[in-house]
Amino acid sequence: MPSVFVQGRPVDSYPRLAPEARRGRVRRITEVGEEVLHKPCRDVTEFGPDLAALIDDMFLTMYTADGAGLAANQVGVDLRLFVYDCPDDEGVRHVGHIVNPVLKPLDAAHRRLLDEGEGCLSVPGATMDVPRPDRAVVHGYDRDGEPLVIEGTGYFARCLEHETDHVNGQVYLDRLSGRERKDALRQMADRREAVFARRAANIAALSG
Ligand SMILES: [Zn+2]
Repeated sequence: MPSVFVQGRPVDSYPRLAPEARRGRVRRITEVGEEVLHKPCRDVTEFGPDLAALIDDMFLTMYTADGAGLAANQVGVDLRLFVYDCPDDEGVRHVGHIVNPVLKPLDAAHRRLLDEGEGCLSVPGATMDVPRPDRAVVHGYDRDGEPLVIEGTGYFARCLEHETDHVNGQVYLDRLSGRERKDALRQMADRREAVFARRAANIAALSG
């Protein structure tokens, strides 16, 4: 079994950071409560250098925040698009981007719910258990407009589902009870400054 998949295809070797990150610049990550995170994003209709540059910036921004996935509205851009660099439960690394992602509905016979820990770069410092299907299939396009299907299991399925929620204007707190949501926001209040300090150190290390 190959250990890295890029854009859904196995590769023999791959650098620690996706090459996009070297071309990108760091953008500010939006936080829960900002409008752009709480409404559905617009479809991408222009495939070209601006889209490619946005993807580069999103990769670098994700790495500086130690993230496994990042949607465009998490850098304040109201477009349906996300990037990821995420392991599954078998230790396989998945790296890529997908434009205009749509989660394929899977019938209950072909999935089960896993209630496991999940965090979000836009809810800095909080981790909560969220029930999610253990398998996900996302249809979309690559940055050149070529059709793309990405499948994931375990933690990577969770990532694909979480990021598709973002482009649909949902954050994972929307899937929690009122009490759990309060708990998550309290965790964020307690740890937010520490998370920001770590991100600043990562930015310094990556640009040094
Ligand atoms: Zn998120």
